[in-house]
Amino acid sequence: MSDPVVDIRNLTVSFHTRRGDISVVDRLSLSIERGRVLGVVGESGCGKSVMSRCLLRIEAPGKIVSGNLTYFKDPQQALHLESMDATGAAIRRIRWKEIAMVFQEPMSSFGPQHTIGFQIAEAMRLHGADASNDAVVAALTSVGMPRPEEVARQYPHQLSGGMRQRAMIAMALSCRPAILVADEPTTALDVSTEAQILDLIRSRQIELGMSVLFITHNLGVIAHIAHEVAVMYLGQVVERSPVKTLFANPKHPYTRALLQSIPRVDREYSGPLVMLSGSPPGPFAPPSGCRFHPRCPERIPGVCDRETPVAEILEDKTVVRCHLWRKKG
Ligand code: SF4
Repeated sequence: MSDPVVDIRNLTVSFHTRRGDISVVDRLSLSIERGRVLGVVGESGCGKSVMSRCLLRIEAPGKIVSGNLTYFKDPQQALHLESMDATGAAIRRIRWKEIAMVFQEPMSSFGPQHTIGFQIAEAMRLHGADASNDAVVAALTSVGMPRPEEVARQYPHQLSGGMRQRAMIAMALSCRPAILVADEPTTALDVSTEAQILDLIRSRQIELGMSVLFITHNLGVIAHIAHEVAVMYLGQVVERSPVKTLFANPKHPYTRALLQSIPRVDREYSGPLVMLSGSPPGPFAPPSGCRFHPRCPERIPGVCDRETPVAEILEDKTVVRCHLWRKKG
């Protein structure tokens, strides 16, 4: 049975530019289930990071122009994040304590002038948690940090990229949040460190029973960590399904193209790798009809360039936005 911890409905986020307003997230609907990992995948500029930042209301310089972002502390208690002042007390009580975030580059969260231990203790103190040295060392130990007492006394620049990311995760999880938003947290790491960080996030997710929104451009990472996956293209979700279903039976031509562009070790021979031609159009003038139609190898002339596909729920619970799956009647 569905038990969403977050429900996003018709969310539109715009950026104001000298050439006018552009919608980087466009009427997007998505939910995150309690205690599950939702992976969101798409090319750069598809709006996935902007969407994820809205949960903490740090979408600036973007602006939520319409839609609802509902956070269910429990099934009976719904908080409307979109109506909160982005700098007000209500969102500050939720930010980090209940919804925490890790970024691609931990240096953007750690200041260079204070030790790791000081900064983790500050985050704990700010949210009413035990901020003692023992608690800081315990937080670092919980993410498998080697020599945690020594690391607590070190400055961010003295750590390797993988250790900094572990410290960032320790800080994000120090208040035991209900939701962790992870925005490309392994993109800057080498492959073996990436695997360690993914295993760490997954094991802490299971231990704490938290929900995770994991943003990435890498479907291999999604296969490693997510229960469900949403594929985004030009500000919209074009396919959403359980991760196994997506890899076994992708429905949307964009998803199929993404899968054809990565090596598959789960199949004997999956054919030559195929690169998707072109790049997503700029957001100033999104294509008419289906936004993917200029690049789609399966487009239906006269239909896909004119009619906007709606999200259909299929029998296997996949949600897909494509005329090929349009229900009759
Ligand atoms: Fe391709 Fe048409 Fe489906 Fe869009 S609606 S993905 S253009 S087949």
